[in-house]
Amino acid sequence: MIFDVAIIGGGIAGLALANDINSRGYNVVVIEKGNYPRHKVCGEYISMESYNYLHKICPALKQLNLPIITNFKITTGTTKEFTTILDLGGFGVSRYLLEELLFEEAKKKGVVFLLDTKTKDIRYENEMYTIETSAENIFSKLVCNSSGRRSNLETKGGVEQLNSTNYVGIKYHIKLKRDPNLIEIHNFPGGYCGISNIENDKACLCYIVNSKKLKEANNSIPELEKNTLYKNSRLKKIFSDAEFLFQQPLTISGINFRIKQPVNNGSFFLGDSAGSIAPITGNGMSVALRAASVLASLIDDHFSGKVNSQQLEEKYNKFWNKEFSTRIKLSRYFQKLSEFSLLTGITINLFKAFPSLARGIIKLTHGKPF
Ligand SMILES: Cc1cc2nc3c(=O)[nH]c(=O)nc-3n(C[C@H](O)[C@H](O)[C@H](O)COP(=O)(O)OP(=O)(O)OC[C@H]3O[C@@H](n4cnc5c(N)ncnc54)[C@H](O)[C@@H]3O)c2cc1C
Repeated sequence: MIFDVAIIGGGIAGLALANDINSRGYNVVVIEKGNYPRHKVCGEYISMESYNYLHKICPALKQLNLPIITNFKITTGTTKEFTTILDLGGFGVSRYLLEELLFEEAKKKGVVFLLDTKTKDIRYENEMYTIETSAENIFSKLVCNSSGRRSNLETKGGVEQLNSTNYVGIKYHIKLKRDPNLIEIHNFPGGYCGISNIENDKACLCYIVNSKKLKEANNSIPELEKNTLYKNSRLKKIFSDAEFLFQQPLTISGINFRIKQPVNNGSFFLGDSAGSIAPITGNGMSVALRAASVLASLIDDHFSGKVNSQQLEEKYNKFWNKEFSTRIKLSRYFQKLSEFSLLTGITINLFKAFPSLARGIIKLTHGKPF
C-alpha cells in the first residue's frame, strides 16, 4: 500500500497533522517509536490561540471541564512579584490525556499507526518515499517529520551550529489549593518553574534549569531543589504544601532552542523538529498546532492540484519562517535572561512601572487564534 502521507513521530504535532489530513480524505500513517498514553515533560499550558483548532480536530476535548487560565504571576527570589491579566490566555491539559485523546480520535477516523516502531531512514526512489522502520518498510507520496527536538532524523544541513547552553526540564503533577485561573512563573538562580492547573483539579509543576546547576548539585534533583529552587521562598512553600502525585519526577536533558529547517530533502518538518521555542516566551504546542493546520491545508491544495510540489515547499517554508523564526530567535534571549534573578527582578520593576509593557511582551509570546 502507498500512503498519501507518512508522519514520523506522533507527539502533538504529528497527531494533530494526522487528524487534520485524514479529515480531508487522505490516507495517513503515523510511525511512532513510543506508545500511548505517556507523560511528557511540558508545562501543559496551551495558548488560547489553538483552542478552536484543537477542539475541531479532537471533539472529545469539549467534554472535559478544563481550567481556563486568565492571569499571570511572575516572582523572583526575594519579595518581588508582578501579576497581570492575560489578554488571550490559555487552558491546561496534561500531555498524557491530550495525546491519548488525539490518538483515539485519529484511530477512530482510520489513521494507521505503527507504534513502538522507530523510523531509521527515509529515501526518495521511484517517485515515492520509502521509510525504513524497525518493523517494516512504508511507502508514501509525502513525508512529514514531527519527530521532536532530538531525533535521529534531524535535518543535517540546516541545523544552526551553535554552542548554545543546554537545559534540563523536570516535571511533576501535584495537588495544591491554588487559583485554577492563574499561571505562575517563579524564577530561581539558573532557571524558572511554572505552575498551572490541568484536568481533575491537578496542577502541573514544571521547571527548566541550566544543566550546570544540576551538575553543581551532584546530579541530584532533591539537592538541586533544596539548594537552588528553594532560594525563591514561594517555591519553597509550594514544594512543602503540595501533594506530589508521581513517585519520581519526569526529566529530560539536552534542551536547547535551535532553528532548523521547515523543509529538507523534500520532507516537511513541524513542531520541535523544525525548531523549538523557549517555554518562557513561547507556546511550543501552539507553534506545532499552527504549523500542522497550515501544512494540512497546503497538502490538501497539493493533492487537489492547486499547487505543485515546488510551490508546496515554497509556501510552507515562507509561512514557517515568517511566523516562527524571529519568535524562536527572540525566545533564546529571554530564556538566557530568565536564568538571572537580578535581571528578572529588574524586569519585574519595569513591568510594575509600565504594566502595558508586560502585556505587550506577553502578547508577543502568543500568536493569533486560528
Ligand atoms: C520544560 C518544557 C516546558 C514546556 N512547556 C510548554 C508549555 O507549557 N506550553 C507549550 O505550549 N509548550 C511547552 N513546551 C514545548 C512543547 O513541549 C513542545 O513544543 C512540544 O512538545 C512539541 O511537540 P512535538 O510533537 O513537535 O514533539 P514531541 O512531543 O517531542 O513528539 C515527537 C514524537 O516523535 C517520536 N519520535 C522521535 N523520533 C522518532 C523516530 N525516529 N521514529 C518514530 N518516532 C519518533 C517521539 O517518540 C515523540 O512521541 C515546553 C517544553 C519544555 C522543554
